[in-house]
Amino acid sequence: MKFEMLGVAQDAGYPHPFCHLPCCNAVRQGQALEQLPAAAALISTGRSILFDATPALPQQLELLPCFPEAIFLTHAHIGHYTGLMYLGREATNTHNTPVYCSESMATFLRQNAPWSQLVELANIELRVVHAQESIHLIPGVVIQPFEVVHRSEFSNTYGFKIRTESETIVYVPDADTWNGWPIPLREILEDATSAYLDCTFYNAHELPGRDVTQIPHPLVVDTLKDPVIVEAMQRMQVYAIHLNHTNRLLQRQSHPVLLNTL
Ligand SMILES: [Zn+2]
Ligand SMILES: [Zn+2]
Repeated sequence: MKFEMLGVAQDAGYPHPFCHLPCCNAVRQGQALEQLPAAAALISTGRSILFDATPALPQQLELLPCFPEAIFLTHAHIGHYTGLMYLGREATNTHNTPVYCSESMATFLRQNAPWSQLVELANIELRVVHAQESIHLIPGVVIQPFEVVHRSEFSNTYGFKIRTESETIVYVPDADTWNGWPIPLREILEDATSAYLDCTFYNAHELPGRDVTQIPHPLVVDTLKDPVIVEAMQRMQVYAIHLNHTNRLLQRQSHPVLLNTL
């Protein structure tokens, strides 16, 4: 059983569409590695479960040993669910692929085309799960959603805790802040053995002309000082995911980057 990232970039991927600054030219010139938007998979012999359906779903399916038997969605921002379009009749035309998500995410998909067609044609089967509910799909594996504070234009946002027989993994690709969660991050990380956390922006200087404090994501420089995360890093590996194209961590040659080593 292994938990693997299938990409570590923010929703738009790396290089960023039509960015011709040095950050993205580094990929075009072969000095940095291309990265697909953040998604993860739990893989065991002949089985896989996908977390987030990104717009790069076709490339990410190539990284799996088999078609995912279920998809867990965090929220309704483009990098996290639009890959569902590849389950429709123009693409893989799946039959009742289970899609686990919150009530508001399910309502969004049911009520808005083209996603509603996936439901009507039974390409996907929406399975609403509530925060803290335990989902059992693979023997010995328990998946639990929890509420994350994040911009909620179209849906609320979930993170997922994945317990296997040997590990407890926390996956949070998108968050506005580490504070004020209905169940505090401290409690969520308590029994974890590793965590993959939103590290969209490295610091407040990387978007010239924009006030990064107005774009709600914890900055890596602040995350590294957050008492809950500092404490967690003493007993588990914490990885940086969902990196914006401007984030200097994307220049590393190996991903996901371990925050413990920064
Ligand atoms: Zn995102
Ligand atoms: Zn988001």
